[in-house]
Amino acid sequence: MDYGMIGKIEKARRYAQEPERITLLSLKVDFRGDNNTYQMSMEESGWHCTCPGFQTHHICPHIMAMEKLLRPMLKRQPLPYAPGQNVVSDVEKAKRYAGEHDRIQFTAFHADFQGTNDTHHFSFSDGAWSCNCDFFKSRGVCCHTMAMERILSGMIAVSTVVTQ
Ligand SMILES: [Zn+2]
Ligand SMILES: [Zn+2]
Repeated sequence: MDYGMIGKIEKARRYAQEPERITLLSLKVDFRGDNNTYQMSMEESGWHCTCPGFQTHHICPHIMAMEKLLRPMLKRQPLPYAPGQNVVSDVEKAKRYAGEHDRIQFTAFHADFQGTNDTHHFSFSDGAWSCNCDFFKSRGVCCHTMAMERILSGMIAVSTVVTQ
């Protein structure tokens, strides 16, 4: 029995119910829209999306869907609607998209995790996790990465499978 690991899995399960502990600092996502797949990103400077709507209005239903989906982890104001934007249609789309997780694939993110005692920095890139906590350093997995894996279930392609 690996009691250390069992404890972390238990903690991850609890943390996954508390997404407000996480602050997303940046992210990269492939977003499958109705016609095309777009590359979307969020950084300190703001959101970006390769869809035509964003080029015109600097906001789009893909970003609005992510704002909805990730709200407790974003810690930033939603983008304001733009003049000329079809708000009714975009709100409807964003709502629908936010319920269709298979449209969304995270390719990378950086985030802070407010743990019980310390804040840890963790990230995901090219299918691999990273975290600066001690447990991760020795085991290559930790309660922070496992919690996020649960929260983003179906939206993140992990190369290491952690069993129940
Ligand atoms: Zn877009
Ligand atoms: Zn960790």
